[in-house]
Amino acid sequence: MPLTIVTIPCLSDNYAFLAHDPASKDTALVDVPEAAPILAALAERGWTLTHVLITHHHADHVQGLDEVLAAHPGAKVVGHAKDAGRLPSLDLALGEGDTVTVGGSAGQVIDVSGHTIGHIAYHFPDSQAAFTADSLMALGCGRVFEGTMPMMWASLSKLAALPEDTIIYSGHEYTQANGRFAQSVDPDNPDLLARVDAIAAARAAKEPTVPSALSLEKATNPFLRAPELAASLGMDGADPAEVFGEIRRRKDSF
Ligand code: ZN
Ligand code: FE
Repeated sequence: MPLTIVTIPCLSDNYAFLAHDPASKDTALVDVPEAAPILAALAERGWTLTHVLITHHHADHVQGLDEVLAAHPGAKVVGHAKDAGRLPSLDLALGEGDTVTVGGSAGQVIDVSGHTIGHIAYHFPDSQAAFTADSLMALGCGRVFEGTMPMMWASLSKLAALPEDTIIYSGHEYTQANGRFAQSVDPDNPDLLARVDAIAAARAAKEPTVPSALSLEKATNPFLRAPELAASLGMDGADPAEVFGEIRRRKDSF
């Protein structure tokens, strides 16, 4: 049975997610930007946390943890073994290829380092869901703070290779600004133009633009489209990782 997924806006532009297995009632929280809205979403549904899945060490993804655990002391904290030194204390330290089980659903751990070293994504194939935080984002990707451009390109390529019907649950509401940048490097893409209009309508109605379909990201996200954009950036024949790096640098100074 697929997980029931709830999107929780936190702080000014972060998202946390609940993934609930209706049969076992197991409930996982993905990231902890802020306790209050997460605790309210759990209380409203009568759900008790069994897992907290951490994507990476940044404060805006972990800082509500103590307060959430105080109310849900049985939850197991899961994160990347390689980054355990910077993460809150982990009950389950995992790495690339490992699995975390939420009720009847197996989540695969994918190392998507680049934004940080030790960033992970959680892919639940039976629910067509990938929790990507600050790796692949709606119409964007996280800034490459700790890794290298080729490392981030390799991470995004792993996510792009997930099944076509995967839904991407990313960590921030940055989509409208991402759209302005995307149009600067990919102005003639009709799918992008249509998406930018849809984003404007959603934001005007105060609706989230996260999650987003992987198929739409592949058609419109300039960071995934590095190979297609090479020629127009004057980089015909260049390694896609280099083209990605050029697009990421342009975004950093946009
Ligand atoms: Zn981050
Ligand atoms: Fe973040």
